[in-house]
Amino acid sequence: MENAISKLEPRSVWHFFSRIAKVPRVSGNEAGIGDLLLEIAREHGLGSSRTPDGNIILTADATPGLQDHPRVFFQAHMDMVGVKEEGLSFDFSRDPISAVITEDGFVTAEGTTLGADDGIGMALALAALTAPELRHPPLAAVFTVSEETSMQGALALTPDDIPGSLGINIDSEDIGEICIGCAGGLALNIAYTPEISEVPRDFGTIAITVANGRGGHSGMEADRGSLNAATALLTLICSLANEDIKVNLSSLNSGTVRNAIPGSGQAEIALPEALINKALDSLEDISARITEKYRNADPDITITIDRAPNRNIMVSAQDTANIINLRGLNTGILERTPDGQPLTSCNLGRISFDGGKAEAFILGRFATEAGKEMLAARLKKTAADAGAVITFEERYSQWEPVYESPLCRIMAASYREITGEEPRSTVIHAGLECGLLRNLRPDLDIVSVGPNVFGAHTTEERVEISSVKTCYDWIVRALEKLSS
Ligand SMILES: [Zn+2]
Repeated sequence: MENAISKLEPRSVWHFFSRIAKVPRVSGNEAGIGDLLLEIAREHGLGSSRTPDGNIILTADATPGLQDHPRVFFQAHMDMVGVKEEGLSFDFSRDPISAVITEDGFVTAEGTTLGADDGIGMALALAALTAPELRHPPLAAVFTVSEETSMQGALALTPDDIPGSLGINIDSEDIGEICIGCAGGLALNIAYTPEISEVPRDFGTIAITVANGRGGHSGMEADRGSLNAATALLTLICSLANEDIKVNLSSLNSGTVRNAIPGSGQAEIALPEALINKALDSLEDISARITEKYRNADPDITITIDRAPNRNIMVSAQDTANIINLRGLNTGILERTPDGQPLTSCNLGRISFDGGKAEAFILGRFATEAGKEMLAARLKKTAADAGAVITFEERYSQWEPVYESPLCRIMAASYREITGEEPRSTVIHAGLECGLLRNLRPDLDIVSVGPNVFGAHTTEERVEISSVKTCYDWIVRALEKLSS
């Protein structure tokens, strides 16, 4: 099967992809793939270097006569996300990916992620850099480590590492899209130490459980209308205040990471036994309204309301009210572009109270400086109003779109010529490395493209073979134009 893949067209792209797929390369374990890239550079007489953080930079001389043209560089990331089917015996630190061709025209992996994100980006760049017959200006490639986790590789680059003023990032997953901007991120943590007491004897406890929500990526799937289970729990508890039922939080747990929408969670509240039935009725009523509201966007949600045994401890009523107010940290989409794409948003990805302190993990995204300021001010105010301590963990910059840049026009014209179709310009609501590169070199004109990759970061990941050829032809046509 391996041979079959390296016989796909364009040969050189699939040849490199096959070699890349053999090298284990989850984030943080990129030494081997770096060695392979340096080996390929030696085979083809390319210039090469490895930065202290493990990024690889390759260069290729221009076709004679084109030395004075501006250098064009490709950019892709070396690491991949390792996800495998439950029960499969597979060690991402050692085992090669087993890539196969499907009947419907895709390459996928058996039981694991494929690593087309971003192995196919590296393969396309290598094919362009080593194509013997291609007329081209000076070329380069910047391959980064740990994009999937921390963007550490791109963050560690210096201005001298950016080899040219024209960049083509190959890490997008939709052929025909020219990505010209992406969101930056503001990661923050909330800590709140509430007043705690024992649960009085005449109190009872209600457990509220939200399950089976779709969840999803907090940026790419911000717009599909998934219920945020964490905010649903807080909203349900808050609704009791309208009935003059004061409650005390006993436990709270929803979500795992800040950049995913929580699809499930559980809270327990303690309240006087005499009010339990009224509270149960009220919660049933509100939960029915919530599931009805999400009937189309998130149809499998279930919310169950049950009596539960008392815990040992509970939070004071005032502090419970403050913790409930943290739901304001989940804003969903705050601002959109004129054509409706998300510009600014904020996700409450995890909230918990374990008996000590309450904690929340949040990720805001923004495509403009003004959006960032607005978001930061709003989150600070929400936290301050609730009396919580907010710490800003990290920020990475947005890549502000430049509509109709010279490179964008060349890419658009090239796509039209080879496919007869109009490409689409997009600003994505997730992080790409292009923003970090632009910070290092403000005159950088950069776009992001790629073939069709579906199901990235899952065992369903697959790349469409025909779109890889289109993407390669597209890049080649753009290089021809940049040679004139
Ligand atoms: Zn990627």
